[in-house]
Amino acid sequence: MTVFQKIIDREIPADIVHEDELCLAFRDINPRAPTHVLVIPKKPIASLDHLDDGDQALVGHLLLVVRDLARQLGLDNGYRLVANCGSDGGQEVAHLHFHLLGGRRLTWPPG
Ligand code: 5GP
Repeated sequence: MTVFQKIIDREIPADIVHEDELCLAFRDINPRAPTHVLVIPKKPIASLDHLDDGDQALVGHLLLVVRDLARQLGLDNGYRLVANCGSDGGQEVAHLHFHLLGGRRLTWPPG
């Protein structure tokens, strides 16, 4: 079981900023920007590569939650959305998640 599943199940605490029937959003324990939130589906999908065609509406929902959270968190100057996938992508937790990063000018390209 991943650490994110434990957060969904309330087995370990997290600073939750949004929850609905399909997803959870909480602050990253090791923030890389003044605002660093992880948006995850409650459905246990390991990564972007593990999405089914039937997950189309779920993915759309996650992105609309990101849009609303960015407004709610005051990221008026912009933000970045990152999904690390697999070992070359630097993914450490095998539960699909989007990093919502903002609150400072982010550099490009990422390392
Ligand atoms: P990945 O490298 O898989 O894209 O990102 C995993 C993220 O999960 C990292 O940014 C890491 O700081 C965060 N993370 C790992 N364990 C925990 C935890 O127990 N609680 C929270 N809030 N974030 C975590």
